[in-house]
Amino acid sequence: MTAVPDFVRALPADELPAYVHDLDALRGHAAHIRSCLGGRAEFQYAVKANPDARVLTALAPYVDGYEVSSGGEVDHVSETVPDLPLAFGGPGKTPAEIATALRRKVARFHVESAHELRVLASLAHHHAASDAPPVGVLLRVNLPVAGGLPATTALAMGGRPSPFGIDPGEADDLVRQLTDGSHPGLRWHGVHAHLASGLTAPQQLDLARQIVTWSAALAARHRVPLPEVNIGGGMAVDYARPSERFDWAAFGTGLADLADDHPESVLKVEPGRAVTVYGGWYATDVLDVKRSHGETFAVLRGGTHHLRTPATKGHDQPCTVLAVDDWPHPWPRPAAPDGEPVTFVGQLCTPKDVLARRVPAPGLRAGDRVLFALAGAYAWNISHHDFLMHPKPRFHYLGAP
Ligand SMILES: *Cc1c(COP(=O)(O)O)cnc(C)c1O
Repeated sequence: MTAVPDFVRALPADELPAYVHDLDALRGHAAHIRSCLGGRAEFQYAVKANPDARVLTALAPYVDGYEVSSGGEVDHVSETVPDLPLAFGGPGKTPAEIATALRRKVARFHVESAHELRVLASLAHHHAASDAPPVGVLLRVNLPVAGGLPATTALAMGGRPSPFGIDPGEADDLVRQLTDGSHPGLRWHGVHAHLASGLTAPQQLDLARQIVTWSAALAARHRVPLPEVNIGGGMAVDYARPSERFDWAAFGTGLADLADDHPESVLKVEPGRAVTVYGGWYATDVLDVKRSHGETFAVLRGGTHHLRTPATKGHDQPCTVLAVDDWPHPWPRPAAPDGEPVTFVGQLCTPKDVLARRVPAPGLRAGDRVLFALAGAYAWNISHHDFLMHPKPRFHYLGAP
């Protein structure tokens, strides 16, 4: 991983702040995920983690499709990678978005409620050309989780009251509607569950087995096949230990065992964060260093309006200081006192604009550059970049396009 720091060292000063995506690193990681899944589970990328067109294109050879969650994502992904199948999930799909998805021939709909199923059924019925195949539907179910979700879960979408998916008590009625001819434009295709994020491989496997077992029982009660079970995303990313990775090899082995036990069903996973997070960096420079009530702060060009991730998740974004020797002014260079940790903040007039707290940064000076890692997912695309009207970052892409 030397390419990115060297690239950032060599960037002209007026190119900062900048996002740098290493597309070769991204491809290498996606190829690793793909090979660990070993053809025993399909790999669908959750686009909301990072919809950057170059990222989507780089991933294309390694994924079986993309999971999209809005009409905007349906249009964007259909135009960027036209040949790969899309699955349309997410709560609150409008009739206009559903119509867009039908027009774009989205392969799967992850239906989130009884009402949404009826809206989809009526639009699919109107839309269907006489030769159009029926639309494949997965019911997104908010399954109960035995023993509850692990305490280390980062976000819980299910296993407890939530706006996501259908209540398990409604599943039988909706399977019946999908399999008794009530909705001729739709075809029952199985179950989707995305219950939590921040889970380790053993935790994911435990959940996957519960989801598949529950889904197989549902299909058996209705004496219908179970073509597909999508066990969602949420594979853990450890921002405190950036070199640790989700154990894709163990996960793949466990999924292969699960697939052996359910040969009638295709298993599918749809990670977002754990796919793209490692391929992106946010680089900037130190505008000022100051002491306040005994603590040291480095004020950076940019901030959480570009990289909102640490503010929204409440963590410290992992970072490295790249020392710069030039100092253009005749007065002394502001510097962190020896042995003092430094809190990195941005330019926004709010105490929430903190990227990393109390980082050991020996010798840090104004004018040095700082490189934040793990900025390839839920980073630029979730940031409130119009707040305070600072300039937007530049975007650079390393590696083959
Ligand atoms: C956000 C989301 C994902 C991806 O979650 P990650 O934590 O980024 O892996 C997958 N499926 C659904 C339905 C989602 O909402």
